[in-house]
Amino acid sequence: MAKQTHLHCSFCGRNRDEVQILIAGQEGHICESCVEHAQEIIGQELNILSNKEGKSNTQNSKLTIRNPKEIKQFLDEYVIGQDEAKKVLAVAVYNHFKRIVQKQKTQDDVEIEKSNIIMVGETGTGKTLLAKSIARMLNVPFAIVDATVFTEAGYVGEDVESMLTRLLQNCNYDVEAAERGIVYVDELDKIARKGDNPSITRDVSGEGVQQGLLKMLEGTEVLVPPQGGRKHPEQKMIKVDTKNILFICGGAFDGIDKVIARRINTNAIGFNVNKAEQEFQRKNLLQFVNAQDLKKFGLIPELLGRLPVVTYLNPLDAKVLRNILTEPKNSIIKQFTKLFELEGIKLMIDDDVYDFMVNKALEYKLGARGLRSICESILTDSMFELPGTNQKELRITLKYAENMFNKSKINLLKVA
Ligand code: ADP
Repeated sequence: MAKQTHLHCSFCGRNRDEVQILIAGQEGHICESCVEHAQEIIGQELNILSNKEGKSNTQNSKLTIRNPKEIKQFLDEYVIGQDEAKKVLAVAVYNHFKRIVQKQKTQDDVEIEKSNIIMVGETGTGKTLLAKSIARMLNVPFAIVDATVFTEAGYVGEDVESMLTRLLQNCNYDVEAAERGIVYVDELDKIARKGDNPSITRDVSGEGVQQGLLKMLEGTEVLVPPQGGRKHPEQKMIKVDTKNILFICGGAFDGIDKVIARRINTNAIGFNVNKAEQEFQRKNLLQFVNAQDLKKFGLIPELLGRLPVVTYLNPLDAKVLRNILTEPKNSIIKQFTKLFELEGIKLMIDDDVYDFMVNKALEYKLGARGLRSICESILTDSMFELPGTNQKELRITLKYAENMFNKSKINLLKVA
């Protein structure tokens, strides 16, 4: 009996009375939590191994490279308007992948630098959609992360490395595929430091995070916790090289138009243009955005240096919103039509209903995201009532749409 008190797990060292189960081996023992942990490690290792041997790597199979025009054409299928951003992205992505392919072919000394991208545009104008569509086209792993959850290492919040955890998880820990994936960092503007000057006090969730991002954007070997977070300090890190990972950053940068306006006035851009053109330019100041403005906004110069491609997205006007409803490959209306079709019902929507939806989205300042909720508000009743009946057609008239919309809670969202 006395001997039993000395029984302990040979892996974590915990005594018999600190664990629930202790399994005996020839020379030692193992407890239930070490078994669990070992199982996790085996799972990940097997995944990595099989990916290396090319057994299960669907994402890794082949890199689909198209030329910039083809890239833009593809984007046109999913994203309405935003031609300038599409062109800039198409070229940047094309060059990025050319750079990877060139590296694989030759080892000559012309080093093409990475072309990480920054997109400036109001929320809901299609930044995430653009990044997502590019990843879909290229067939590479893709992760969306929110810059606001990061803090400087050691503080409450997530370390920047965890964005790679998400990338790895999205490709089933296929390290090789992840190493040429795309990470979309949303809300980059929220980690701007306040003002143009380096902070005197510690800024752990602003400038601190920007500093943390630097190496990663440039290209370095990062040790990534496969489960993410700091909850599993004992987990085995996976080494990921970010050299060929494309980072696309986006943000609304509220108020940057004023920064641009100030600069433009001093630089006298648009000196020769007529009144109407001047008015248009005043409204669409974002088109002039450059790294200098972003620095003024609070991004540190070192970070901007690693995000050499700057582009912008236009605010969405009525015409674009109208197109967003019906044109993209998986447009909102096409999705609803499909839903009804699956019930054997033909959905028909009068033309003026589309205009009504667009006007409400503009009036309530809901942007493109709001179009879906407006559609829901108009169609939910029918989607509830019709299944199980014999009705084969549904026609939505303006009167019906107005009625349903007024009954819905969206009304409460109206901004004064
Ligand atoms: P952002 O990232 O700029 O805040 P998103 O890309 O998430 O905006 O857009 C939100 C939603 O609005 C998208 O899922 C899409 O349905 C729609 N949307 C926004 N802009 C466009 C656009 N230019 N073309 C097509 N759909 C768009």
